[in-house]
Amino acid sequence: MYDYLKDEIFELDGEAFEVLKLFNGSHSVEEISKITGAKIKDLKVLIDYLIEEKLITDKKVDKGVQKGSFDKSPVPSLRTILVHITTNCNLDCVHCYVDKSQRLEMEPSVFYDVVKQFDRLQGLKILVSGGEPLVHPKFFEMMRRIQGIKIRKVLLTNGVLLDGKKIRKLRELVQEVQISLDGTKSHEQFRRTKNIFGKIIESIRLLKESGFVVSVSTMIHKKNLEELPTLGKILRDLKVDNWYLDAPTVTGEYRNNSLYYLEPQIAGNILRKYGWGEKLYYESQTYACGAHLCTVMANGDVAKCGFYYSQPVGNIKSKSLRECWELIKEKYIWEQRDLRCFKEGCEHLKDCRGGCRYRAYIDTGDIMEVDRVKCSYYGVRI
Ligand code: SF4
Ligand code: SF4
Repeated sequence: MYDYLKDEIFELDGEAFEVLKLFNGSHSVEEISKITGAKIKDLKVLIDYLIEEKLITDKKVDKGVQKGSFDKSPVPSLRTILVHITTNCNLDCVHCYVDKSQRLEMEPSVFYDVVKQFDRLQGLKILVSGGEPLVHPKFFEMMRRIQGIKIRKVLLTNGVLLDGKKIRKLRELVQEVQISLDGTKSHEQFRRTKNIFGKIIESIRLLKESGFVVSVSTMIHKKNLEELPTLGKILRDLKVDNWYLDAPTVTGEYRNNSLYYLEPQIAGNILRKYGWGEKLYYESQTYACGAHLCTVMANGDVAKCGFYYSQPVGNIKSKSLRECWELIKEKYIWEQRDLRCFKEGCEHLKDCRGGCRYRAYIDTGDIMEVDRVKCSYYGVRI
């Protein structure tokens, strides 16, 4: 069960779900007690909890209004979908991995179809990305079309094109905005665009003023390390909800910019020191990274994540999302016990899940190897 407005997930087993279904307004507490064998006083504690967590209500509701049906969820379930609606962008970031050989915009009908299929599969959260999604000429039209679908909508943006008017329009369309911001002075250098820092800070301020959950994503590199304490203070003062940091993988455009590279041993140590808030992705105790995630590119190609855009498992115009997810599960989701991390007996495997498989592959040439950035994060020497 998922509260998409608050991004809260409750995992129930079949028995608990059957009990929960008894609270549908047709049974008295005494009847529920008889059916389940639970004591009335225990049921009352449960009812208070369920009301507090907004899983049930004690108000009269118009029966039928919230009816819906879903297809059986795959295992592992597909919970997050990252949709790149365009390859176009207003910036020119040093570490960009998006294939810009073709300038592509996703057609609104394809976008709508993907989101509808995702919802039927019991998906929970869509991350709308690009390029820069706000440069898509039909961005607002597309978001309005999915407004009634009760999944959490998160906009991933560089924040430069936001203003008061757009933020007002976004209010009903997305629940969360994630802004990329890597530093104070170095940000414009890393994004190769002048006069954007002040604009981004203003966007964050306006978003928070309008009540959005705002996250900031920061890429660490050689030129921004000294700025991170100041950046953290600015973000705290702005009351940013989540601050995510990561080290860019040496791929795409980043391969031509080695002056920014950080050794994995240094990167992990830095990552440990900064950041706060909730995680953006749902994790698994059994599988390695991306166990509940897939990506749809602007041309409709479906892949494990953005890094795998050149290895799609199919295209959404000719294969259903379920078929694509089944292929991703087969080829691109690994069990933790198959990783070298497991064979080495790493005690952090449950938390770390082996880090990023793509980064491990780029770094070592072996998809089952350790992710050295994460090893340094956890202080593991292999
Ligand atoms: S390979 Fe890296 S970017 Fe892709 S899903 Fe795994 S952790 Fe995420
Ligand atoms: S810390 Fe290193 S060895 Fe341990 S699980 Fe993570 S990547 Fe694997």
